[in-house]
Amino acid sequence: MSGERTDVVWLGSPAFPKAAEKALADDRLRGNLRNATTTIRGKRARVVGERPDWAELRDAGAAIKDATLADLAGHLERLEAEVTAAGGTVHWARDAAEANRIVTGLVKATGETEVVKVKSMATQEIGLNEALAAEGVTAHETDLAELIVQLADDRPSHILVPAIHRNRAEIRELFARQVPGAPADLTDDPAALAEVARRYLRERFLAARVAISGANFMVAETGTLVVLESEGNGRMCLTLPETLISVVGIEKTIPTWRDLEVFLQLLPRSSTGERMNPYTTVWTGVTPGDGPQDFHLVLLDNGRTEALADEIGRSALRCIRCSACLNVCPVYERTGGHAYGSVYPGPIGAILTPQLRPDEEVSASLPFASSLCGACYEVCPVKIDIPRALIHLREKAVDAKRGHPSAERAAMKLAAWTLGNPRRLSAAQNVASLTARLPLGRPSRTWPGRRRIKRLPGPGRAWSRTRDVPSPPPQSFRRWWREEGEEQ
Ligand code: SF4
Repeated sequence: MSGERTDVVWLGSPAFPKAAEKALADDRLRGNLRNATTTIRGKRARVVGERPDWAELRDAGAAIKDATLADLAGHLERLEAEVTAAGGTVHWARDAAEANRIVTGLVKATGETEVVKVKSMATQEIGLNEALAAEGVTAHETDLAELIVQLADDRPSHILVPAIHRNRAEIRELFARQVPGAPADLTDDPAALAEVARRYLRERFLAARVAISGANFMVAETGTLVVLESEGNGRMCLTLPETLISVVGIEKTIPTWRDLEVFLQLLPRSSTGERMNPYTTVWTGVTPGDGPQDFHLVLLDNGRTEALADEIGRSALRCIRCSACLNVCPVYERTGGHAYGSVYPGPIGAILTPQLRPDEEVSASLPFASSLCGACYEVCPVKIDIPRALIHLREKAVDAKRGHPSAERAAMKLAAWTLGNPRRLSAAQNVASLTARLPLGRPSRTWPGRRRIKRLPGPGRAWSRTRDVPSPPPQSFRRWWREEGEEQ
């Protein structure tokens, strides 16, 4: 395996437009993304269409989440009491550094230098693998897609399919190079690739004495944690080792088992497009003689309390990480996940990351990484009004910059002045039509009679870096209308 990254992942990512440039120029990446998102979108639409009560289920999911968030402190206290009563130990972590300190301390106390992990976005959010590596502990990801990402020393680019940006041929090449014992004649047949991963992981499962997980839900009334996964690797991690450490965001709490029933219907259909989840593991504290005998729950805040205080922004905490919003997003489909500079890509990342990590450079740009088409809101199983949250966060980003002169603000003022008066608009259109005669760009096949400009000068340069611009038409619509009218 290639060397572990020592930097904390994602910190210091550049602004979205800059980060997206590379992806936009990568035809293969865009092809991989288009194929994968189209397939998942179709599966989801089919199984959601089977439920006549889907709208009611979404309403229920949203209502349960909102009611829980309204008294999150109370539900967390109940959860802590129940986990403790069942033999587990609860730790509270204000931020990433504190959570990493707690987990590395717990692992080191066992004397182990290797741990297995079932996919956990919370641990990726805090850069836990890197923190463990710095203390001499190797974390083995066991989810197939996470394993691919780890072997390639890469970063996940999708919530559900972290290696969505890689195709089978790339994975075959990676396994042949990185997995000990991979057959020399390995093909890119999915079954053959899965077999290589299965053999490699089985050795890790059988040797591991410590496992680290996240959780999809925490049921406060009994102190029960729930993990949904599709490969059985979670079941191995959650039952075989002696010590289990779960790192979970505080917003994953739900009050009762009755509430869980709603989410067990919403989540599989919205994420993998399945009617029922293949492997659902639930555990409550410690059971003598059965499963891990030492259980620790690390409750992670890391910016969630601040998000909770924002009346509109807090809706992001309803998220159950199904990834449906990514799969319908036209921006995500073109840029992929890395440009979002966070473990949470796509529309949910655009509203969650700026709230969890407001000081990062990428955060100010993320609310603008959207066409506001509303597709994300329509598919979200817990009805997060992402466009509304995006506009709210845009407003905050603009307010934060108020007072600083910018080319964009000057351009907007000029546009308002021009559009506010018909004569000024007409004059501007006449000037623009004159520029159509300049030999800018190349003749365009998409826009007959016009030219395709690759780069605009001055402040327009950034805008045209990833877009082609048509030259102005030789005649404005107003003039055409006037002339047509005169002819008739
Ligand atoms: S915002 Fe909604 S659609 Fe997107 S991942 Fe979260 S729950 Fe799923």
